[in-house]
Amino acid sequence: MRIGFQGKKNCYSYQVIESYLNINKTETIGFKTFENVFESISKNEIDYAVLPIENSIGGCIFVNYDLFNKYDIKIHSEFHHSINHSLYSLGKIEEIKKVISHPQAIQQCINNIKNNNFISEEYWDTTGSLDRIKELNDKSIACIAPPNLSKEYGLNEVITYFNDQDKNITRFYLISSKNKNLPNNLLKNNLIIKLNKFSGYIISKDQVGILNEYLNKFTQYNCNLTKIESRPYLGCDRNVFSYIFYIEGIINDNFINELPSFTKFGIFPLLEHNFIKQEKKNLKIGIIGFGRFGQFIGEHMVKYGFQVYATSRSDYSELSKDIGITFLKHEDFLRLNLDIIVLSTSILSFEKVFLSFPEKFWEKKLVVDVLSVKNYPNEILCKYLHKNQILLTHPMFGPDSAKFSWYQKNFVYWFYQESDLINEFLNFWKKQGCNMINMEPDDHDKLTANSQFLTHFIGRTLELLECKNTPVDTDGYKSLVTIKNHSVNDSWDLFYALAKYNKKSIDTINILKYQFNKLQEKLLYPNGKEIKQSETGKLNEKIIDLKSKGINVINSAIGVPSWYPNLKYKSEYSTAKGNKELIKEIINYYQKSFKLNLNIDNFVIVPGAKTGIYYSIKLLTDPGTKWIVPVPYWTSYPDMIQLENGSTIFLNSNVENNWSLDLNKIENEFKNNVVNGIIICNPNNPTGLLYDSIFLIKLIELAKTYDKYIIMDEVYLPLTNKDTSYCYSLKTNYNKMIVVSSFSKYWAVPGWRIGWVLGNKDMISKITKLQSTMLTCASTAGQEVCCNLLKDNFKPNLTVLKKSSKIIGDILKEKGWIVPNNDNLSMYLFPVNYKINIEDFVSKLLKLGLGVISGKPFGFENAIRITLPNNDDELNTIINILK
Ligand code: NAP
Repeated sequence: MRIGFQGKKNCYSYQVIESYLNINKTETIGFKTFENVFESISKNEIDYAVLPIENSIGGCIFVNYDLFNKYDIKIHSEFHHSINHSLYSLGKIEEIKKVISHPQAIQQCINNIKNNNFISEEYWDTTGSLDRIKELNDKSIACIAPPNLSKEYGLNEVITYFNDQDKNITRFYLISSKNKNLPNNLLKNNLIIKLNKFSGYIISKDQVGILNEYLNKFTQYNCNLTKIESRPYLGCDRNVFSYIFYIEGIINDNFINELPSFTKFGIFPLLEHNFIKQEKKNLKIGIIGFGRFGQFIGEHMVKYGFQVYATSRSDYSELSKDIGITFLKHEDFLRLNLDIIVLSTSILSFEKVFLSFPEKFWEKKLVVDVLSVKNYPNEILCKYLHKNQILLTHPMFGPDSAKFSWYQKNFVYWFYQESDLINEFLNFWKKQGCNMINMEPDDHDKLTANSQFLTHFIGRTLELLECKNTPVDTDGYKSLVTIKNHSVNDSWDLFYALAKYNKKSIDTINILKYQFNKLQEKLLYPNGKEIKQSETGKLNEKIIDLKSKGINVINSAIGVPSWYPNLKYKSEYSTAKGNKELIKEIINYYQKSFKLNLNIDNFVIVPGAKTGIYYSIKLLTDPGTKWIVPVPYWTSYPDMIQLENGSTIFLNSNVENNWSLDLNKIENEFKNNVVNGIIICNPNNPTGLLYDSIFLIKLIELAKTYDKYIIMDEVYLPLTNKDTSYCYSLKTNYNKMIVVSSFSKYWAVPGWRIGWVLGNKDMISKITKLQSTMLTCASTAGQEVCCNLLKDNFKPNLTVLKKSSKIIGDILKEKGWIVPNNDNLSMYLFPVNYKINIEDFVSKLLKLGLGVISGKPFGFENAIRITLPNNDDELNTIINILK
C-alpha cells in the first residue's frame, strides 16, 4: 500500500501519517506539490494520501479545496494535529535576515517574522526548507520547520515555538480516489471517533436567495455546519464570478444521503487518539450475548483499551478475531477472571441466560445489563446479586442510529452503590461523548414506552404498510422510511420484549389506538358518529305498531314467510326493542319489587345478559380506552373489552376484606381520560357477595364527578330481593348507569336466552339500533316464555340453596379454606386457599364426581367457584365428597 503526502519525510503531513496510520507495511511517498499528490491518486500510483485542509491560524489551504473539485476524490477521515514551528539556521539568531518555508508555515509565524524584522520567502515544503538552507550555506537565511530536527539536519534550532499563537492546529484529511474503501488495518487501533462529519460542495446558481435555500436543507436535517468556503467556480460551464461553495458539517442520524445539488466528498469520522487508555487500569470485560448490539459495543470497548471476551449461544469466533475480541465457549468463559460482565442477551432470554451461569461465577464482579427495559433486569439482578454488584444501563442507541458516532447519544444508568469499577465503566461511555443520564428503572420504563417503544411500534406499522421510498418523497416521508428501516433492522425479539417486559408499552399502544380512532372520527364524522337502525327493522317496527293498533297491514316489505309451522310459541320477528308485553311485565316487576316507575324507553330485550353487556361495551369502547373491572370478575368482561380493542384495568380486592372495593383506587383510575368507567357484577359472580348501598351510592357519586359509565350486571340480584343500582342512580340523578339483567338465573330459563338492559333513553335507543343491525331481535318464543313467567309471578323455592351455602361453607372452613359469611342468597361460593394446589384439587374433586372450577378464569388463582345446589340429594353428595 502506498501513501502520499506533500512535502518531505518529517513534515507535518508525514507526522500525521506516522501518528494515525499503521505504516509498517506501507510505503510513504512525498510529493513536491499538492497537485502532484492528486494526480498520483487519480493515476492509481498511490492508494491514499494525507493532506492539510485548514489551519486554525492560517485558515484554509485553498489549493486543496480547488483540487478536490478537479479530481474525483473521497474523504475517509479527518485528523487534528497540533503544529509547533521552530526556527532553524546555520548560525545565530542575530545573523538571520531572511526566513524561508512553506507558505502556510510563513503565514502562521508572520507576526514573529515581522517583529524580528525578517523578510520571508516561500518555499515548497517545511522540512524541504531545512535541506535548502544547508545547501545555501548562508547564516543569514533561516527556515521554519517542525521541531526537534536539529540533530538530524545538523542545524541550530534557534527558536522553538516560533508560531504566532500557542493553539495552532491543522486539520488533515485522509483521502483516496472515489471508489476506494479503507482497509481495516490502515488506521491505528487506539483511535476513537469524536464526531462524524460530511463534506461536499454546491455549485451555486445565480439566483436570489439560492444559497439560503440550500443551507435551509441542512437546517431541516439538524446538521450543524462547521464550515462554508466559497471559491471561484472554474468549470467549463462557468460564468465569470460564479462560485462553488464547499460545505462541511456534523451529521446527525437523520442525515439524508442524497441532498439535492450537494456533491459529497464523503461522510467520515473525526478521529482522535485515545490517550485515556494509558491512564487507566486495563479492565477485563466479558460480554454475554454477542448479537448485533454486543458486537457493536464490544468493538468500541476494544478500541478504548479494555480487554474484551465474549460468549454467546452461537459461535462468533471468526467475527470476534477481526475486531480484537476473544470469543470463548460457555465452559471456557466460566474460567475467566473478569472485572465486569456485560449482559447483552435478548430481553426474552435474559433470565435463562443469567441462570445458566453458576452463582459462584458472579462473585466479586460488577454485573452490567444493557437491556432496553429496566424494571425487569433490576428485579432479576436484585434477586440473585448483592446490590453493590449491579449497574443497570440502557445505551439508547444502536448499530443503526449511532453507526457514525456515540457523541451526544443518551446513556441511561442506575446503580445502588457507587464504586471505582462503576465509575471506570461509566467513564468509558462518557469519553465516547455519551449524554449520561442517571435515572430510576421505573422512570426509565415510563418514558421509553412513550418514546423508544412508540418509535419501534410506528416503525413496524410502517413496515406492514410497505412504506418505502418513492420518486415523490417529501422530507417528512423520508424520515418515516428511516424510522421504518431502523425499527426492522432490530430483531423481532427485541421489539416483542419491549412490549412484554415494559408494562407501560401496552398503555402506549392503547393511547395511540384511541387517538388514531378519535382523529379518524373527526375526519369521517365531523358532526359526530351516528348508530343506524336497520331499514328493514325500522319498517317491521312500524308494521307491528300498526297491527297492535288494529290496523291490518300485509307485511310484504320484509322477509317474513307467509306460512307457519304448527308450533306452540310465536315464531315471527319482534321489534328490535322486544315484545311490548314482556317489557310491560318487566316494568311491573320493577314497580312491585323496587317501587321504580320506569317506562318502555328505559328497556330493550336482549338475548341474555351477556349480549346486553357486550352491546354496552361495544357502544362505549373506543379502541384504546379502558374499563375498570374488579377482581375476581366474571370471566367474559375482559374478553369482551378486548374484542372491542379496549383494555382492562383490574382492580384487586381480597377475601380477607370480604372482597370489598377501594373507592380511592377507583377514583385514581377515573381521573384518566381514556377510562370509560367500571363494570361491576352485583352480587358478584364468582364470590356471591353483594355490594352494599353505601358503597354503590359513593361509587355513583364518583362516576358522576368524573363523568364515567357504570355497567351493572344484576343477573343474580333477583335472588337477594335487594334494590337495583338503578334506584340509586335515579336518586343521585345520574344517567350513565346501565343495568343488565336476565331470566337465566332466578327465573331459571337460561336456554331461552332472554335478558334486558335498563338505562337512559338515549343509551337504550343506541342498543336497540345496534341489535336491529346485528340480530334483528331476541328470540320471540323466549320472550313469550319469560313474559308468562312474570305474568304467573314465578317464585322459585330456594330453601336448600340457602342451607347449602352455610353447610358447604362450614365444611370448607374446617378444612382451612377462607369463606366469607354471606347473609344473602347466592348461587356461588368462592372459597380461597393459599396452601394447596388449586388445579390438583379441582382434578381430584372431578375424579370423585364433583365438578367445580378453579378461580383462575375469574382472575384469582387461589380459589374455586362452587355452584350451590338447591336440592338435598345433591347437597348430601357434595358434603360426602368434600368431607
Ligand atoms: P437481540 O435479538 O435482542 O439479542 C440477541 C442476543 O441474544 C444474541 O446474543 C443472541 O444469541 C442472544 N439470545 C437470543 N435468544 C437467546 C436464547 N434463547 N438463549 C441464549 N441467547 C439468546 O438483539 P440485540 O440488538 O443484539 O440486543 C441485545 C441486547 O441489547 C438486548 O437486551 C437489547 O435490549 C439491548 N440493546 C439493544 C440495542 C439495539 O439498538 N439493538 C440498543 C440498546 C440496548 P446468539 O447471537 O448467540 O444467537
